[in-house]
Amino acid sequence: MTQRVGLIGKPLRRRHSQVMHDAAFDAAGIDARYVLLELEPEEVEAAVAAARGEDWLGLGVTAPYKRVVAGLCDDIDPEAARIGAVNNVARTPAGGLVGFNTDAPGFRAGVELAMGRSLHGSTVVVAGAGGAAHAVVFACLDAGARHVTIGNRTVSAAAALAERFGDIGPGTVQAVALGDPAFERALRSADVAVNATTVGMVDPGTTIDVALLPVTATVFDLVYVPPETPLLRAARAHGLRAANGSEMLIAQAAIAFERWTGVGGMADVMRSAVAPLLADPAATA
Ligand code: NAP
Repeated sequence: MTQRVGLIGKPLRRRHSQVMHDAAFDAAGIDARYVLLELEPEEVEAAVAAARGEDWLGLGVTAPYKRVVAGLCDDIDPEAARIGAVNNVARTPAGGLVGFNTDAPGFRAGVELAMGRSLHGSTVVVAGAGGAAHAVVFACLDAGARHVTIGNRTVSAAAALAERFGDIGPGTVQAVALGDPAFERALRSADVAVNATTVGMVDPGTTIDVALLPVTATVFDLVYVPPETPLLRAARAHGLRAANGSEMLIAQAAIAFERWTGVGGMADVMRSAVAPLLADPAATA
């Protein structure tokens, strides 16, 4: 019996996850496939119910169904509940469904690799307050960041995020508007500046003025299509350490794969498999 993991979303334009997971199934000798389930809203409940069957290992979930799928799970991992986002679901041997979040640990792995140090004790600036920013801010505070500044176009969303995670870890957190003088002051002393908006992918331009950052700072852009955003280009031109979201993507996939199969250590296999797609300037955003 070929087992499956299904990615639920609409639209599903990208094949990065499918390519990584199928390569890992092959490398691990597991008879399973990662399938894309581009569903209409009225089809989601039945698809999630079907995933309780023995031929399923679990589900991936993306926009716009994260919230509805989380509501159909029997259980949610405490960390995913705290973050407020489920992006994967594991099937238990008894057919139960447990929602979990891999963006937070994936981000931590990716950004610490880019920084060459731990987030612990660091001063972080995050642009964005959407779904991905929730995982980023949680991961930073949970890792013991000293201070996190959240800057967002819609300042009320940044304030809600700061309020939500204000009690995690020893660090402090503040919310400001993108471009506010307080945002610019925070950049001047940042160890790492993170773009967790869709700017650079959907909209042109950048969210962070790299000229304000100390020379020791790292710039981390969650966007990985295109591989080099204007933000990363500017950061490199200023001689700063800079990385896109590809290592976060790979790390979070490897974490999910281990949860579904019990097989760890698949990041290298996944990295090789997805490299052509990541390097493809025509890959779909
Ligand atoms: P989302 O929930 O839709 O949030 C979008 C964010 O972008 C909001 O903060 C929004 O601000 C901001 N934004 C959008 N257009 C803007 C503009 N023109 N100027 C300034 N801010 C703007 O999206 P998401 O799920 O958080 O995803 C954000 C990015 O992270 C995407 O590019 C996604 O591909 C990437 N991501 C990467 C990984 C990875 O593994 N590398 C994982 C998850 C996400 P407002 O609140 O003002 O609208």
